[in-house]
Amino acid sequence: GQKVVLITGCSSGIGLRIAVLLATDEQKRYHVIATMRDLKRKDKLMEAAGDVYEKTLVLLPLDVCSDESVKQCINNIKDRHIDILINNAGVGLLGPVESISMEEMKRVFETNFFGVVRMIKEVMPDMKRRRSGHIVVMSSVMGLQGVVFNDVYTASKFAMEGFCESMAVQLLKFNIRLSMIEPGPVHTEFETKMMEDVAKMEFPGTDADTVRYFKEVYLPSSKDIFEAMGQTPEDIAKCTQKVIEARNPRFRNLTNSLYTPIVAMKYADETGGLSVNTFYNLLFNFGPLMHITMSILKCLTCSCLRRRTVSPN
Ligand code: NAD
Repeated sequence: GQKVVLITGCSSGIGLRIAVLLATDEQKRYHVIATMRDLKRKDKLMEAAGDVYEKTLVLLPLDVCSDESVKQCINNIKDRHIDILINNAGVGLLGPVESISMEEMKRVFETNFFGVVRMIKEVMPDMKRRRSGHIVVMSSVMGLQGVVFNDVYTASKFAMEGFCESMAVQLLKFNIRLSMIEPGPVHTEFETKMMEDVAKMEFPGTDADTVRYFKEVYLPSSKDIFEAMGQTPEDIAKCTQKVIEARNPRFRNLTNSLYTPIVAMKYADETGGLSVNTFYNLLFNFGPLMHITMSILKCLTCSCLRRRTVSPN
């Protein structure tokens, strides 16, 4: 029969696209429970879903930061039966650590890390009992490699990678699969929201050099990277569908072959020096030549590395 898929954070971006892609499956293989914090923000999803709404796609409120909301949502599902849980909800945070309050940092962990833990805690016992299920987590390349001025966001995704890498072992004993999706940059509201936050940023207690490195060196090259290497949320939805339909789903799934050299570099030098020095050179020495750097990176990404990713095509 139909597989029940629950997705978090469906009001925009990647979550919305996954919900629509699975709900419009021609063979109607999926019953999609698209969830979002605030149902007032459902219009974009409704419009994209068209006539599958209330057929293969239903909507429920769910805030991954609230125990109550999560429990209530899962209790509202028939027999609490979920075959595939897609943890997509997440928030970004950009800027010098000196400029970010501890409260803001905790909010990121509350969503990106504890939000996923909360969902898994609620859904896993039923999956264990049935000896079946697939848990998918929207991680990031930044769950595998640190990126300057994304310190806290990166840490929240690393935390999740560590949690899931540990969980995957016992879950396998219960025939439950766990898969991480690791996109590079994706053109969604995520990017826009972060840039808006940055525009409002005041940098209290941050020295002038750091502010300059952030605004005049990091931000322009980050914009170039997004433009040159960004994928669409549809691309990530297609990759996610491939992962859930795989006979033997992989644990880690990079979606962008342009990022495989970065990950390879990390494992090539276990002292970490190669990664730190390469990123230093990218930012402070080649930054102004970012376009050339991108072309070199594209050439380096030979076909043998491309195979290690899950491609949207
Ligand atoms: P987005 O901002 O469009 O989507 C994130 C969604 O999560 C939003 O709909 C938001 O309302 C929701 N959300 C936030 N807090 C929530 C909460 N407490 N409860 C329920 N929902 C909540 O951005 P996106 O790019 O589609 O992000 C989706 C996921 O992809 C995130 O986990 C993000 O970290 C990850 N990701 C994004 C990129 C990128 O460049 N955009 C790259 C790699 C990974």
